[in-house]
Amino acid sequence: MKILKIDHLGIAVNSIGEGKQFWTDVLGLKFEGSETVAEQKVTTGFFPVGESEVELLESTAPDGPVAKYIEKRGEGIQHVAFRVENIEEALEELKSKGIRLIDEKPRIGAGGAKIAFLHPKSTNGVLVELCER
Ligand code: ZN
Repeated sequence: MKILKIDHLGIAVNSIGEGKQFWTDVLGLKFEGSETVAEQKVTTGFFPVGESEVELLESTAPDGPVAKYIEKRGEGIQHVAFRVENIEEALEELKSKGIRLIDEKPRIGAGGAKIAFLHPKSTNGVLVELCER
């Protein structure tokens, strides 16, 4: 598999509206707008940083993965996303190496990207997202 770069860091926040002030007003990043991914019960807000992005994640439901994350650990970095050249190939390879996959097949995430998550039990506790755009 070929990893091209860190695509984005996913940061769980209680509110994108409140959370974004630090990233825009203090750090001077540009807010690129938000998008709701209904299937994942999350609204995402993107802030480009060089070739990568910061992605703020706000849950749209109390039982969503981001709400559960905040309940357990509080706000903070929830996942790291690597952009890969070919996500299907990457998943096949990881599976053959015994890596636990949350998504056996890619699904569609924010911005229409193909995404898949690897299980933190196989990745030193880090929720890793692969994405292909
Ligand atoms: Zn992400």
